[in-house]
Amino acid sequence: MMMTHRHLSFVPFVLIVAASAWWAIRPAACHARGWTDVRAAGPFIVRADFPLVGFEELLKELSGLQLDLERSLGVEAPKEFIELYLFSDERTYRAFLNHHFPDIAYRRALFLKHDGPGRVLVHKNPEFEIDIRHECTHALLHSTLPMVPLWLDEGLAEYFEQPPERRVHDNPYFKNLKWTLRFGAVADLEKLEKKGHFSELRREDYRDSWAWVHFLLHGPPEARHELIQFLRDIQSSAPPGAFGQRLARRLPNARTRMTQHHLHWKRPPQEELAGRTGQGGAR
Ligand SMILES: [Zn+2]
Repeated sequence: MMMTHRHLSFVPFVLIVAASAWWAIRPAACHARGWTDVRAAGPFIVRADFPLVGFEELLKELSGLQLDLERSLGVEAPKEFIELYLFSDERTYRAFLNHHFPDIAYRRALFLKHDGPGRVLVHKNPEFEIDIRHECTHALLHSTLPMVPLWLDEGLAEYFEQPPERRVHDNPYFKNLKWTLRFGAVADLEKLEKKGHFSELRREDYRDSWAWVHFLLHGPPEARHELIQFLRDIQSSAPPGAFGQRLARRLPNARTRMTQHHLHWKRPPQEELAGRTGQGGAR
């Protein structure tokens, strides 16, 4: 249920803010607020209006997020810091948004980017850490890439929003995915690529973008290589073309391969055992 709310009513999103709005939140304005805790975590400067004691593991994970993107996709490290603002509750988050971005429609979490460093704003909620990883993935991608197609931006954010140990086998999207695939209800890349604005994205589009990203990362090596090359072209400002067409040239039966990938996706036996033991110990 939380996922539904998140995607239908409070979709965290990437926002390219207009210059006028951007200048309303100059660094000085943010610094003047008097944050309770300020930390550096990899490429992120984290400011929170509550003590960050107890969040060390999350901060360490954020430093790792950049390395994960670099290792899996060759995404370069940002050349500037990304600012992450954390709020203790929704009320203070709303007040901050109303003050600095009165024209922006409310979203549960935000990534803002114009021509300065990216900024991520998140408030505590039951999916606080997921929101942070999701928006920070957007921030890392947009810090080095001049553009990211919407389906890929969201697919990668949905993939990396899970803690590292859940990304490969335990994403909640796996539940019911096999049935959805059997009914042929996962969208083709071409269909996802046509959606250029957040208002066009439905909850299923996030799931389908994630399904393609998981296939690209963990399916046949040529699929991942095509994605890496695609991102490299974007990085070097070479016209990348449509990814769906590029993948079709490299992997003519990509749609069938994606379906087969998920229908047969399984945790290796030794991992299954470790996962079960781990779960038993943790709960
Ligand atoms: Zn997103």
